[in-house]
Amino acid sequence: MVETLSIAVIGAPGVGKTSIIRQFIYNDFSEAYTPTRSRYVHRPSVILNGNMYELKVLDVPPISSFPASASQEWLDLRCRGVRNANAYILVYDICCVESFEYVKMIRQQIVENREGSSSEVPILVVGNKRDLQRQRFMPRRAVSVLVKKTWKCGYVECSAKFNWHVVLLFKELLGIAVARGMRQNHTSIRLQGALQRNRCTVM
Ligand code: GDP
Ligand code: MG
Repeated sequence: MVETLSIAVIGAPGVGKTSIIRQFIYNDFSEAYTPTRSRYVHRPSVILNGNMYELKVLDVPPISSFPASASQEWLDLRCRGVRNANAYILVYDICCVESFEYVKMIRQQIVENREGSSSEVPILVVGNKRDLQRQRFMPRRAVSVLVKKTWKCGYVECSAKFNWHVVLLFKELLGIAVARGMRQNHTSIRLQGALQRNRCTVM
């Protein structure tokens, strides 16, 4: 039996959400910015530690807030499926403090608006554009401590442009999600490379 995990990728406009997803699934990157206007679902299948998972990766267009109720989610096509995702990737641009503020707000709303134990859903905060790190607004260590210790979320920095740590971030999130048993049922790409133990391959 193959497990299905839905992952919502959320962040301010232009931080690189679509680029991360495209690099992960298609090994492709474009310098040109094409804003994502409607929600897009990608369905790669991956193997992690010998187990196969079907992912439902939601490329969420800019939303002003996390949907506070099921009816609000239903009314706004852009955020369909966001409330019930099994895990979240919250992306910010390490050179843009506003994009970090946005992630902070969304994380808070996820915790407040998902009910009961589902508020403990796996959340991975991702600092993208690591290749531009000379322009970063806060040292990596300070962000990492805040995110991990205070927010209790995972933290990874990556560069979608250079495909650096892109596989790692999905592997990290999957690892947390699987460990917490946030699974649904279902079928099967390979997550390439990664570390030798904890292997993750996109087929
Ligand atoms: P989205 O609005 O969050 O989906 O952002 P996009 O993925 O469309 O990317 C916005 C812009 O940032 C595009 O011009 C990309 O080429 C650029 N971009 C994305 N990732 C990176 C990165 O890691 N490094 C650099 N230097 N530029 C990036
Ligand atoms: Mg986009």
